Amino acid sequence: MQTVIIMLGAPGAGKGTQSLRLSQELELPHVSTGDLFRENLKNQTEVGLRAKGYMDAGELVPDEVVLDMLFGRIQKSDCDRGFILDGFPRTVVQAEALTKRLGGEPEVLAVNLEVDDDDVIKRMSQRRVCEDCGAPYHLTSAPSKKEGICDLCGGTLMQRSDDREEVVRHRLKVYYDQTAPVVTFYQDQRCLRSVESRSSVEDVFSSLLEILQTLRG
Ligand code: AMP
Repeated sequence: MQTVIIMLGAPGAGKGTQSLRLSQELELPHVSTGDLFRENLKNQTEVGLRAKGYMDAGELVPDEVVLDMLFGRIQKSDCDRGFILDGFPRTVVQAEALTKRLGGEPEVLAVNLEVDDDDVIKRMSQRRVCEDCGAPYHLTSAPSKKEGICDLCGGTLMQRSDDREEVVRHRLKVYYDQTAPVVTFYQDQRCLRSVESRSSVEDVFSSLLEILQTLRG
């Protein structure tokens, strides 16, 4: 059966870090719409250029652009057994479109990573990502082995322009206005679990594995 895991939570809640770990553990592809947009932007595609202004301002890219890009990605054969969604859906319209697209077949689990706003602002100012492969790091809680260099691919680590404090504050507002209702959407569908994301990366990951085990019995 196809397994679809949906990682929800405010910006900086740890969706990217936990999705990568789950992806390795479960051998399912990690599908991040933010990464897909950044890749498109790097390659100067039409989708990338359309998304740029929204991303720089911390706004959501319009639903139809996101949906086209995401649906194109999940129809690739590496997603046949399932996939882990990170940063999608971010609006109820996207969540409804995904439900329709998936039909009744796959096992769907939505996980909400809970974190305080103050923690988000602190975390994001210390977040670094690899310019080449997008792997996430944190200057104090998850540093790279060699300063400024990605452990996975040797690329250079940088701060995303939308991780600056004023943009982060705006992204939080956008999250509460447009994305928080997605949590209720999955709660209503009875496939939502919540995990406190205040503790260490390892502790949060253990909680996620426990949830998956209870699901798989
Ligand atoms: P992320 O890396 O997930 O924080 O995404 C970075 C930016 O990409 C967001 O601030 C949005 O501008 C855009 N983006 C990513 N995913 C979505 C989505 N599902 N819907 C709309 N915009 C998105």
